[in-house]
Amino acid sequence: MASSAVSSPTSSIKQRRYRFATEVVTVDNPDDPHNAASVPIYQSATFKQVGAGGGGDYDYSRSGNPTRTQLENHLAKIMNAKRAYAVSSGMSALDVISRLVQSGDEIIAGDDLYGGTNRLLSYLAKTQNIKTHHVDTTKAESVLPYLDPVKTKLVLLETPTNPLIKICDISAIAKHVHEKCPEALVVVDNTMMSPYLQCTLDLGADIEYHSGTKYLAGHHDLMAGVIGTRSEAIADRIYYVINATGCGLGPFDSWLLLRGVKTLAVRMDRQQSNAIQVVDFLEQCGFKVNYPGSRKHPQYELHKRMSSGPGAVLSFETGDIGLSERIVEAAKLWSISVSFGCVNSLISMPCRMSHASIPAHVRAERAFPEDLIRLCVGIEDVEDLLDDLKQAIRSAGAMPEHLDV
Ligand SMILES: *Cc1c(COP(=O)(O)O)cnc(C)c1O
Repeated sequence: MASSAVSSPTSSIKQRRYRFATEVVTVDNPDDPHNAASVPIYQSATFKQVGAGGGGDYDYSRSGNPTRTQLENHLAKIMNAKRAYAVSSGMSALDVISRLVQSGDEIIAGDDLYGGTNRLLSYLAKTQNIKTHHVDTTKAESVLPYLDPVKTKLVLLETPTNPLIKICDISAIAKHVHEKCPEALVVVDNTMMSPYLQCTLDLGADIEYHSGTKYLAGHHDLMAGVIGTRSEAIADRIYYVINATGCGLGPFDSWLLLRGVKTLAVRMDRQQSNAIQVVDFLEQCGFKVNYPGSRKHPQYELHKRMSSGPGAVLSFETGDIGLSERIVEAAKLWSISVSFGCVNSLISMPCRMSHASIPAHVRAERAFPEDLIRLCVGIEDVEDLLDDLKQAIRSAGAMPEHLDV
């Protein structure tokens, strides 16, 4: 395959034959000459050609690499996509998607986005004259006033958002967008749910992307981004940008991601059941908890309709910044860390850490509580997680007496 090719070496994508947890551990590798049980790492920049005119499936790893192709075929299968691409990080995935938009075009996006996403959108506004309208996507109609059949090229959604856990109705928004702006693409960052819990392409998205660094990898040992679509035409445009800019995932990280993703279902099942118990405890303590699996969540029914589970990221408010700081600092098993999706449990204060890059006045406008604590629940024994939370809350002075046994 020549480096100037417009499509990737991705071969035929297998349709799902089994349930998710089975498909995710079943990696087809039919072309391996030695029948290797694990896809090998093709740690090679170049591939020898059969003749002066080329002729091999691969020629240069920026354009295509067999380890990456196997990973991409596997990801396409589990995302219910026609084609998927693996790139160097989640931000790199959004960078690739954003290159489908030109100067003077417009983007509509949520108002509670991942911090890095905000940073890239501000950069596009400043340097490329690409304006983003931020709207409250919890109300599908809020996109309507900004939909312009000429200018709108991208509608960028996250659901649930992180860390405020707001939910948007992907199907309803996609319907509005596709009716009014046939050329605009609905793009969903599905990192918080993973392909196991939510298939946004089934719900009407044109492109779904992930930070593969989170649940897909699952062990905080690599950075990756994943982009999936059902449209061959969109896939060709995405592949063109990846090859042109050179952000395809390297062979070793492709191998690590393919290895990590096999346990996605079993990790997520455990993380989610731990999270449900943690939420139950925090609600008993009287804290205001944000979690899509909590019946008190205003969009509980909507999330339930779109997904097969609430996931393992939650946040809660203590009512006092100092108290939140003391709880976070007293936790021992929960490590203070940004990110989520790892097998280990993490605790953080988004305003001080992952979301500190959003200016304080913007956080205030978006009703982003400064005392918010985010928990990303791992696969540890839930009794240990609860014990550690209890001692942290007790030592911070916030344990209700009736629970303090
Ligand atoms: C982490 C994250 C990203 C960015 O991904 P990186 O792999 O860190 O570049 C994008 N969106 C969401 C929702 C994330 O959590």
